[in-house]
Amino acid sequence: MNSSVPMIDPISRLLRERDVLIADGAMGTNLFALGLQNGAPGELWNVEQPDSVRSVYRGFVDSGSDIILTNTFGANRFRFALHKLQGRVRELNMAATELARAVADGAGRPVIVAGAMGPTGDVLEPLGPRTSAEAEEAFHEQAEALRDGGADIAWIETMFDDNELEAAVRGAIRAGLPFVATMTFDTGGHTMMGVRPIDAMRRSKGLPGKPLAFGANCGVGPAQLLDSVLGLAQGAAAEDIIVAKSNCGLPMMGDDMKVRYNGTPEIMAAYAKLARDAGARIIGGCCGTTPEHVRAMAEALASSSKEAAPSYEKIERALGPVRKNTTQAGTSRRTARSM
Ligand SMILES: [Zn+2]
Repeated sequence: MNSSVPMIDPISRLLRERDVLIADGAMGTNLFALGLQNGAPGELWNVEQPDSVRSVYRGFVDSGSDIILTNTFGANRFRFALHKLQGRVRELNMAATELARAVADGAGRPVIVAGAMGPTGDVLEPLGPRTSAEAEEAFHEQAEALRDGGADIAWIETMFDDNELEAAVRGAIRAGLPFVATMTFDTGGHTMMGVRPIDAMRRSKGLPGKPLAFGANCGVGPAQLLDSVLGLAQGAAAEDIIVAKSNCGLPMMGDDMKVRYNGTPEIMAAYAKLARDAGARIIGGCCGTTPEHVRAMAEALASSSKEAAPSYEKIERALGPVRKNTTQAGTSRRTARSM
């Protein structure tokens, strides 16, 4: 390559060749299905049961994922302290990333390894005890290990607080990793801290670095996630890349007291097409989403074309009721301190 050509990030590079990238599904719920006990830290399996972690990565790659997230969602020193693992941040992040790197490199096509970074689990100042600087240090420590394990990018997800999002972004930037960020709009169409999708997208411009992509993950099912995508699109510029990563339906408690998600592959396929119509260019699943769901989503997207942004009636016909206050002006409750 001509050395005067600017470096292009891995997501933009793949999106030059196609309209939409397929992300993966859930890590946690798939590890539970493989025998991980509720409440146990799944990140320990990166060293204790690497074959299980590898099998989840491979399942998604084989189903069409262009991006796989590492098994490191809770692998920061504060979340790990709950399990007395705070001294193993580097080891467990590197192990997860090395496993993912090997699966991605064996795929026979480009697959992006995204180092997953979830919240610290603590509320940040001014509402909680944790300072932004402490959170940034924890995220920086994690991001360096993800980088050294071979991650292409950081994937900051399930954020609900602008301040914690910014701390995570600073941590990723200090480690030299480009990043994607997604927030969880699971409380009446806002994040837990009152951030609306349209505002989150606008404020993402003020982050200390520009996200490669920005969007929504987790939450309360595919219909509501689409409302978030419509809100994000309202706040987005034409070149912004929107991420949609919905839970696989809604959680249901089974007779065996295990939580299952009620989304079928058909539901997730319908959601994927509507997410593309609504403006998302990176589409995957969150809690409950298996490789089978991802395959249905990838096939549905490949065998159809983008249509006009869906109406709420169309979304509700396909996926059920939506609470549509995320995109209406003037419905925001208290919003978190802006950055
Ligand atoms: Zn989720």
